Amino acid sequence: MKSILLCTLLLFCMVPKSHAQNDMTWRIGLSKSVITPETPMWMAGYAARTTPATGVYHDLWAKVMVLEDQSGKQLVLVTSDILGFPKKMSDRIRRKLLETYGWNPSQIILNGSHTHSGPVLEEALYDIYPLDTEQLALVKSYSQWLEQRVLTLVEEAHQNLRPAKLSSANGVARFQVNRRENVERDIASKTALAGPIDHAVPVTKIEDQAGNLLAILFGYACHPTVLDHYSWSGDYPGFAQIELEKLYPGTMAMFFQGASGDQNPIPRRTLPLAKQYGKTLAAAVERVLEEEMQPMAATAKTAYAEIDLPFAPAPSQTELTRMANEQSGYLKRWAERMLTEQTQGIQHPTSYPYPIQVWQLGHQLIFNLGGEVTVAYANALKQTFGQDSFVMAYSNDVMGYIPSEIILEEGGYEGYSSQMVYGLPSTWEKGIEERILTAIGQLAEEIDLRPLHLPTEGN
Ligand SMILES: [Zn+2]
Repeated sequence: MKSILLCTLLLFCMVPKSHAQNDMTWRIGLSKSVITPETPMWMAGYAARTTPATGVYHDLWAKVMVLEDQSGKQLVLVTSDILGFPKKMSDRIRRKLLETYGWNPSQIILNGSHTHSGPVLEEALYDIYPLDTEQLALVKSYSQWLEQRVLTLVEEAHQNLRPAKLSSANGVARFQVNRRENVERDIASKTALAGPIDHAVPVTKIEDQAGNLLAILFGYACHPTVLDHYSWSGDYPGFAQIELEKLYPGTMAMFFQGASGDQNPIPRRTLPLAKQYGKTLAAAVERVLEEEMQPMAATAKTAYAEIDLPFAPAPSQTELTRMANEQSGYLKRWAERMLTEQTQGIQHPTSYPYPIQVWQLGHQLIFNLGGEVTVAYANALKQTFGQDSFVMAYSNDVMGYIPSEIILEEGGYEGYSSQMVYGLPSTWEKGIEERILTAIGQLAEEIDLRPLHLPTEGN
């Protein structure tokens, strides 16, 4: 009788427990590969560089995590030491993944760290670099190689899916500075820095069922522009990943870029500073990993949309002529190209298909936006959906800067002239911030998220 009662009690205790454990069990597949160019190629991000890369500070990487939830739904996240995935490459990769695995775009995130010490890719900021035919050919063949490499990495990660548990939390690191509101030479003596910021360090811990660390996914919203040298590197995110992989041997550290369109690491420009920021970020992640993190139930909800983001009317012929005569550098080249295209009768698009995406992994919300998103968007989303939310930018397509309404009104680089650097036909139409945030709200509703979302029972 006693043993029957004990068995009953055990059953009573064990069934719900194993059921609860199952709800927390994801399957995760990981893969990574060095993507450092083997030939001296042009480096992306700065128009002022005058020669191809001449050295390597550390290797560039592409890293892939495939996730599978309890229902068998699969997602893939690619992070990489590049300026960003250009639209055409991203579209081709996502089409291929749809054909091969049946994944729709909502299940795929292609994030670039936005390092300014990586290679130029095809169909991305092409006009700003002085590329000769030899360099153009290198850019083309490297881009094709990278695209194939990413697909192979996804295949490898998909083949090594194994049980894992995930947990998440935000940390903090404070080297990000609002670059529109602060001047580098003044910041050492300032008692308070100006302008909106977001010092969050979103961290996801991936462990096997025995609690061994398999991978660390972390982000930060800050331009990887410490370095403008001629040696390949992932800039501070590269150093942060190296540091974490040293701290936790055998794990894979993956960095994603946040809404850093108006945020710089300041001061900058030396290799020791890039290492310092890398170590600072790694230390912030280390602290989060050592504190309590919230376990993520193995449920994945995803939504994706491309919204028509309207351009402001293009400048008139008179205005373009004036720009071509009075401006220099990229603005002059842009105005001349626009004038030529006008005389050729080329019609420019009046809007851009702007990608937005929402993931909910267990309790964790992840907002994911294309382009060089300014930090106001991250702050607005966190205010609406909770400070625990993660915000990724520079994902799936990097077509230009995404200024907040205030920055668009103010103009300057992020609000106006950067759109010409990107070769867009004009700047964005007024109302951009509301348009994007409203569309993200609608997307969130598609997966039953409400403003100021709290985790529902069983999630
Ligand atoms: Zn940028």
